[in-house]
Amino acid sequence: MNRDKRQQIFERLREDNPNPQTELEYSSPFELLIAVLLSAQATDVGVNKATRKLYPVANTPQAILDLGLDKLKFYIKTIGLFNTKAENVMKTCAMLIEKHDGEVPNNREDLEKLPGVGRKTANVVLNTAFRQPAMAVDTHIFRVSNRTGIAPGKNVLEVEQRLLRLVPKEFLLDAHHWLILHGRYVCKARKPQCGSCRIEDLCEFKQKTE
Ligand code: SF4
Repeated sequence: MNRDKRQQIFERLREDNPNPQTELEYSSPFELLIAVLLSAQATDVGVNKATRKLYPVANTPQAILDLGLDKLKFYIKTIGLFNTKAENVMKTCAMLIEKHDGEVPNNREDLEKLPGVGRKTANVVLNTAFRQPAMAVDTHIFRVSNRTGIAPGKNVLEVEQRLLRLVPKEFLLDAHHWLILHGRYVCKARKPQCGSCRIEDLCEFKQKTE
């Protein structure tokens, strides 16, 4: 895909949604970190349902440690893999207090040392909480980047690196939100809605649907 097409695609996505936001609900970097950690293999809607009850009770590392593992599990029990996630949340809270004065670090190295936090979670936190140009490539971004030709790659890391290199600078901070939303609601996995897609004429997917 050439530079001009990429520019036009993001101009249209921005036009339709000038201020894209994550669908996870949060009011601090810590709340975002925990929400993203809980969202692995779960929906944002499901995570929001749980955190809407959890955060009014405990939304700091110390408050969650004070709550204890069993009560934390009670609040997040509707989320897949909640046992492992609860344990990771407790360990992450302990490490935040021990090593970072209870604050969420704003760099990849420290974020990725937190239990349960991988590259993707770190990227979401860096981008969304700290507004750094990081690209959290999930299944939606991976699919859209490959289908459209915006940043094709064999694996998520390759797509991440290409997006960082190829997305025009002015769109870099918000690109991952636009691509996720486009993948979630339009360029769906099984049945892309090419007929009503805003970027259909620019997309290079060879098997477009009606
Ligand atoms: S035209 Fe189809 S394949 Fe291309 S981005 Fe739109 S929905 Fe996806």
